Amino acid sequence: MVYEVKVNELAEEFGVHRNTIRNWINSGTLPAQEGPGRRYLIQAEDYHRLCDKFGRKPKAFPAAQAINAPAQEQPTPQAPPVPIRLSLSSIHLFPDPALADCCVTCGSCAGACPIAGVDDLDPRKIIRMALLGLEEEILASDWPWKCTLCGRCEESCPANVKILELMRSIRGQRDRAKVPHPIQKGVTTCLEKGNNLGIPKDDFLQLVKGLGTELGETICPGFTTPVDVRGARLLVTVNSKEPFVQPRQLMWWWRIFYAAQESWTLSSENWEGVNWGFYSGDDSSMKTIVERIVDNMERLNCQALLLPECGHAYYATRYGLEKWFPESARKFKIYSIFDLLLEYLTAGRINLDPTIHNKLTTLHDSCNYGRKSLKAFGHGYFSEGRTIVQACCTKFREMIPNSGDSYCCGAGGGAWASPYAAERVFHGREKARQIKASGAKLVVTSCHNCKDQIAHSLAPEFNLEIEVKSLWELVAQALVPAS
Ligand code: SF4
Ligand code: SF4
Repeated sequence: MVYEVKVNELAEEFGVHRNTIRNWINSGTLPAQEGPGRRYLIQAEDYHRLCDKFGRKPKAFPAAQAINAPAQEQPTPQAPPVPIRLSLSSIHLFPDPALADCCVTCGSCAGACPIAGVDDLDPRKIIRMALLGLEEEILASDWPWKCTLCGRCEESCPANVKILELMRSIRGQRDRAKVPHPIQKGVTTCLEKGNNLGIPKDDFLQLVKGLGTELGETICPGFTTPVDVRGARLLVTVNSKEPFVQPRQLMWWWRIFYAAQESWTLSSENWEGVNWGFYSGDDSSMKTIVERIVDNMERLNCQALLLPECGHAYYATRYGLEKWFPESARKFKIYSIFDLLLEYLTAGRINLDPTIHNKLTTLHDSCNYGRKSLKAFGHGYFSEGRTIVQACCTKFREMIPNSGDSYCCGAGGGAWASPYAAERVFHGREKARQIKASGAKLVVTSCHNCKDQIAHSLAPEFNLEIEVKSLWELVAQALVPAS
């Protein structure tokens, strides 16, 4: 049977924007042919598969819309279900069964999860499966990879079940050959070459020195890029996406350091600030990547460490430092971007002019800096971002809900790099709705990943007429030059 459908009707039915439906059609997620009167023809089984995937009850299409309908077929008798042999709690997936045993099956986690129902993903079900020892089934499923590790489920859990730890544990037990390729490749490249994208040392040095010369000859007279400066106060780590994709973005931070007269340095080796061993659940690789940062701190005799403007980088590195290198975590001051910017502002080391940004502005809370850091490290960055943004903008409006209850942009947990694009966009629909409802024309993020998802995926998919800026870009543009 073939259905004749309109894009806007399907968009309304699935709760997404028309562009998302068009993208599903163009990408083959929803096979369809153009039909008469701006309608599309879709096979009933493709429509039903899409309904299953996104947890929708199929709509009963009026008979007039079904064409080429064959004579009523008799249902094929189904084989009786094969009983599943259950074992004890999966000690491999969940080394501490007491945690999962706490689950009271209330379903709050599923209610809080923006993609519960997609391809039958349901955090409560995953916990039950782990408890019942259904290891093979759970490891074979893609659920833990479609989950963005956003932590909304944990936040709502009355029994304090460590759902994210379980998701990571499942990711970590999967055969490495079956880990989503871009994530596994990022980990192996980082181990071999010192950064996720395999940028050679000479290219990196040439790039940062060239950018530094340009800055020194224009807006920051005398500036040169410090590399391997022993005794600098602050070691600055880098998200490899910046030198690889948008190298000029690096200059925003450098302009702020210049204004604050900071003593800082980059490292010529192992400068990567993100850690995809966290995404892949591979503790051994994760530890190696964190250890390299500790080694750089020791080698360069720095006192403080700045983690990149990336919620994942902050969370993963801090998590690794506290877990495997607690002495270093105590010995060195670890700065998030919020800590450092607020320190500069409070001490008067930088001054900002809010009139530079006059558009109505809102702030997207990164799950990693906020909700997850609060739970893991006892402090979530909520008010700090708001103080900084409001020092740079004249008009600010919150999205609702925000802070600890904020919705994930949809690209966390490695989803931006993973092959599940339709799920990533579907997840982001809540964030797109929030942005639209706020009326903001400028969205500020403190995370490179969130910025990419909002600017390059959600804005075109959901027709958001917005500008998206990183916090560092916002601050650097509002800097008042020293007189
Ligand atoms: S971490 Fe986020 S995406 Fe994953 S199950 Fe929990 S609420 Fe859903
Ligand atoms: S919210 Fe917590 S207790 Fe309730 S079903 Fe989910 S994991 Fe179990």
